[in-house]
Order: sequence, then structure tokens, then C-alpha cells
Amino acid sequence: MNASPPPVVGRFAPSPTGALHLGNARTALLAWLHSRALGGRHLLRFEDLDTGRVRDWAFDATRRDLEWLGLGWDAEFTQSERLDVYAEAVARLSTYPCTCTRREVLAAIQASAGAPHGEEPVYPGTCRAGSVNPERPAALRWRVPGETVCAHDALTGETLCQYLPTEVGDFVLRRNDGAYAYHLAVVVDDAAMGVTDVLRGADLWPATPRQIALQRALEFPTPRYLHVPLMTDFRGERLAKRGGAPPLMALREGGEETGRVLSTLARSLGWEVPDDVSAGELLPFWKAELATVQFPTIPQT
Ligand code: GLU
Repeated sequence: MNASPPPVVGRFAPSPTGALHLGNARTALLAWLHSRALGGRHLLRFEDLDTGRVRDWAFDATRRDLEWLGLGWDAEFTQSERLDVYAEAVARLSTYPCTCTRREVLAAIQASAGAPHGEEPVYPGTCRAGSVNPERPAALRWRVPGETVCAHDALTGETLCQYLPTEVGDFVLRRNDGAYAYHLAVVVDDAAMGVTDVLRGADLWPATPRQIALQRALEFPTPRYLHVPLMTDFRGERLAKRGGAPPLMALREGGEETGRVLSTLARSLGWEVPDDVSAGELLPFWKAELATVQFPTIPQT
């Protein structure tokens, strides 16, 4: 007898560090369309662990923006309320304290293997055998397994494989100010919340293999991943809160019509829609996109 597949659970996981801009709204729209197109539950999760960057007003502004667009959610979570869950997960992993500053890490890389390859410096394992400068506050790094981990994207069909020791390195799970790192929290939460489908911006695609590595070490299932392109401006540069992209809030408060905003977002995806649409009216367009891809079955827990 075949067990029926688990129900689809999707999520939108904004960092409340400022106002949502049109690019965030497009990702939020697609995440909502995906959950709803598959008859699933849709979660809103505030990723607020980087307390220095969090803005208190951004929680409510985000909720209002999503409601305005008609992108409702079935349950809401806030990462800063879940610190003991992250602590438990870290305790199950092989970690070591690290007191190296970013500058020291870069210097060690240059001294050993020359220039860092890839976009991000790979930690060379300086503190693996014992902390240098133990009087400093320590971060906790995960001793990554000596394995290659591959991620598959259900939307783009791409596969990305990374050899953890040299392409990822022992990465930080808890920063030296005590804050849990995004990669840890996202993996713990997606598992705890039963998330089956992770639809998010393409900027996180290179981080997917390390998140899968954490899932394996913690014996969590791997969800389906769908990475969507980030919205760009007329210069082809990605919209960013810091780059002054127009906040959704300003459109909402300036009396802009929701239907026109949704229509603009849909047209930016190449969908031929009228000037005024509702989120629900966009469901057939997302279903049509899904019909063109090979969709793997949801992993069973
Ligand atoms: N909080 C992340 C962001 O705002 C998204 C994390 C995720 O979807 O996995 O970019």
C-alpha cells in the first residue's frame, strides 16, 4: 500500500530589517502562489536573529503589505522566540569555538592557498585543533563532514554540488555575540514546521548544499527547492532595501491599487495579465509554470 504524500507546506521567510520592496513582494507572491496552487498550507516566518539589523516596525509593516496584496498565511513564527530549539540542534552537531576575526581568516587563506576562490572566503580551519586567543568571545563553527553534497532545484532543473571542506568550509552556527546563524535556523525551522517546499530568491541557491548537509547531519528530510530570479531595476541591478528600491509601504500608503501592483509583478515574470488582477487570479499562471517542470515527489519523513 502506498502512503499518501504529506501535505504541502510552503513559507515566506522575510528578514524584518526594513520595508518590503517590489522584489521581496514578487518572491512573497510566488511563495504564496506555490503553496496555494498545490493546496498547501502557507507559513509566514520572521527571520529576525540578526538583532542589530532588525527594525521593530518592520514586522507590522510586512504583515500589512502581505495582507494588502492578498497573500494570507495560515500560521506565523518568529525566530527570536525559538532560541532553545536552535540551541538543541547545535548541541547535536560537532562544533568547535572559533575566535578568529574576519580579517584573520582572510590573512590565513592568503597565507595557505593564495586568494580565496569563489565569492566567499572559505574558513581554513584555523581553530579546529583548539582556539587561538581563547580570551576573546567565541563563535561556534560546524566541523563539516568530508563529503560532496548536491542540491537539486525543482524549478530550474539545476544541480549544484559542493565539496564541503574546500568549497564551504567549517561555517558559523552561532556567532560570537550569541546569535544563531541563518543557515542553522532555516534548516531547524523548515524541519520543525513541516515545510515541504522552499521557494525563495535565487541569491540563496549557492547556500543550498550546506543547508542540505545540515539537514542530513540532523536527520531532517530535505524539502523541494525552487529558486526564483530576483527582480532587477532598469540597469539590471538587483532591487535591494539598501539600494533604495521603492518600498511597498509607500505604494500602499500613497493609495496605489493592489491590482495594479500585482499586475506589474506578474508582467515582470512574463505573464500576460490585465492591468488589474488579484493574487488568486494569478494561480493558473503559476500552475502553468509548474506544469512545464519535472516536479520531484515530496520527501517522506
Ligand atoms: N530570510 C531570508 C531572506 O529574507 C530568506 C530565507 C529563506 O527563504 O530561506 O532573504
